[in-house]
Amino acid sequence: MWLKEELRTTPRYVSILAQNGIHTLKDFFNNFPRTYEDRSHIKPLTELIFDEKGKTATKGMIIQKKVFRRGGKMIYDIAFQDQYGNRGTISIFNSGFLAGKLVENQRYIIVGKPKFQYGKVIFSHPDVVPTVAPEEETQEASSYNSGRIFPIYSEMQGIKPGWFAQKIWDNLDRIDQLFSEYLPTEFVEQFDLLGVASTVRNLHYPENEDIRQKALYRLFFDRLLRIQLYSLMNKLAYTGSLDVPLVQEDPTWELLKAVLERLPFQLTVAQKKVIIQILEDFHRGKPMMRLLQGDVGSGKTVVAMIAAYYIHQVFGGQSVLLAPLEVLANQHYKTVAKFLLPLWLRVELLTGSLPKAQKDKVKADLVSGKIDFLVATHAVLQESVDFKNLQFVCIDEQHKFGVKQRAMFKKFSSPHILQMTATPIPRSMALAFFGEFDVSIIDQLPAGRIPIDTKVISESEYLKLKPWILQKIEQGQRVFVVTPLIEMSEKMDDVTSATEQYEQICEYFSELPNEKIWLLHGRMSAKDKDQIMNDFKSGRKCLLVSTTVIEVGVDVPEATIMIIKNAERFWLSQLHQLRGRIGRSTIKSYCFLETPKKSGDAYQRIKVMETTTDWFKLAELDLQNRGSGEILGTMQSGDSDIPLEIMTDLKFLEKVQEGAMWLLKRYPHLEGLPGLQKFMNEKIGDVLA
Ligand code: ADP
Ligand code: MG
Repeated sequence: MWLKEELRTTPRYVSILAQNGIHTLKDFFNNFPRTYEDRSHIKPLTELIFDEKGKTATKGMIIQKKVFRRGGKMIYDIAFQDQYGNRGTISIFNSGFLAGKLVENQRYIIVGKPKFQYGKVIFSHPDVVPTVAPEEETQEASSYNSGRIFPIYSEMQGIKPGWFAQKIWDNLDRIDQLFSEYLPTEFVEQFDLLGVASTVRNLHYPENEDIRQKALYRLFFDRLLRIQLYSLMNKLAYTGSLDVPLVQEDPTWELLKAVLERLPFQLTVAQKKVIIQILEDFHRGKPMMRLLQGDVGSGKTVVAMIAAYYIHQVFGGQSVLLAPLEVLANQHYKTVAKFLLPLWLRVELLTGSLPKAQKDKVKADLVSGKIDFLVATHAVLQESVDFKNLQFVCIDEQHKFGVKQRAMFKKFSSPHILQMTATPIPRSMALAFFGEFDVSIIDQLPAGRIPIDTKVISESEYLKLKPWILQKIEQGQRVFVVTPLIEMSEKMDDVTSATEQYEQICEYFSELPNEKIWLLHGRMSAKDKDQIMNDFKSGRKCLLVSTTVIEVGVDVPEATIMIIKNAERFWLSQLHQLRGRIGRSTIKSYCFLETPKKSGDAYQRIKVMETTTDWFKLAELDLQNRGSGEILGTMQSGDSDIPLEIMTDLKFLEKVQEGAMWLLKRYPHLEGLPGLQKFMNEKIGDVLA
């Protein structure tokens, strides 16, 4: 009710505002402009720059208004003249209202995107603001919408940007009352931050560009500070300390001899480096929180396995390896069991599709401590599962797991956590979103891999590949055809559904027996998927039409050909991950990216796959193509209101982390900072408390 009075507006507006989460004047101030218009530099007509991205402003006096009809529409041609006598035209189409605002012999500030046409400077449908003659300018009443950087708000269900601008202006003097500083003065000074009230004011009506930048800095500093504080408090709660404790003992490589001898290969230098980091963590006397990034095929699984073996040998603890899919859990189980069963570790698998009796047996054996190493799907672990002595949790393809799920391990008395991902997370993003984690990177692929040939092709080129593909299949090799459809029902306009594609492909490869070609998609039961993957591995099936379910970690050495349909629909890092499913043996592999048109932006974007295998570079290109939503979305949702430039500004992020440490050292649990505590509890989007 009182918002209505304060803003002097109608019940309808109040209800629209309420629908958009604006209930108080404070909320109203927390609705920041979408962008700004620089109306502070008004230029004479002769200095206007045409075809600029932003708007520019000039000043002029209306000298003549002409109206004529064309095809039933009213056209207003309004001539004006600037203070130096240069002439321009305002062109208005069918809006008597706008034309009526302009009065002959009056002066206006004219804001818009001027064009130079037919020898004239033309402003179509500009914003116009009445103003005074240049000689009177010193007395010019400060007009809120001209001569300054002017805020542009998002339109809200018919409420125009200009309405917000005016109402904010009318209430500017309320800001000091509504917003008070919630960070300690010493902090604000040390980190050179603008105060809260000043930040709010300058976000709406900046005095100048410098101070607008400082206000934005404070805005994003606080948003990120909140994420950092969450991360570090999480770490504090989990590990009991923010400091890195001293190493108490040295890891003993000797103990790993037995398992290392069983490996059919030498570990890469990068794998060894990471294993040492992990083993050192185990001896610190605090739970490890480590994020392990490594390209597809860099050999992360074996690192996890060796770490688990070490935990068992040295500390007698249990380990669990979690995978997002059953196919993957099955594969991990086979790998791990092969190496660890002969070394007298009991390895078990726990997935949703196991019969209940078997599940119960595994669960009972976990509690009694008979099982040393469990491979499980994440879903199944969320059910009631208990351990005798869980000490190490490894989460594979971690970006599929949210922050909340990480927290659930606390109930098992804080085991060491290793999160593994093939998603390249730039250092700055890792810092922003995994601030509590130490980061390890496997930056090297095992030697002896033959590079994959990648080629972008058109549909007609794809059709010509058939004899060649059939020949490869004859030789015992296997083929993936990947379609961009995630689910069977999800049918995009210009892409045929996975089933249709499957049928087309069966028809196209009519030489192959039907049971050799199969479809794999996300809606299938885990059992079916597993069956198909097994048949594909064994060669009973040789051509798999698949959605992106194969994206994550499935290993088939004989798979040497991949055709990705509508490749332009994928992010580069996705294409790279998919491509990583082939080239897993000593036979040469080929990846074909099929796209409808071999020209244009989409084509150019994916063409880089032909020459680049640099995992981080592709991720960065995705970021440039505004793929951050995709990457971040899978990591942690809800923070998309932090722009990319900021998310990737490492210096800024480090500063914010320093700030978060500063606060937590002096104010444990943020006690004594009620304003900040409140801010921490508010929903994302409520920015300044
Ligand atoms: P990812 O890092 O993608 O999870 P995997 O752990 O599945 O990779 O390993 C891919 C393949 O590489 C597996 O077949 C694995 O046995 C093999 N591998 C792992 N480390 C090495 C190594 N140092 N030398 C040769 N092959 C290796
Ligand atoms: Mg893997």
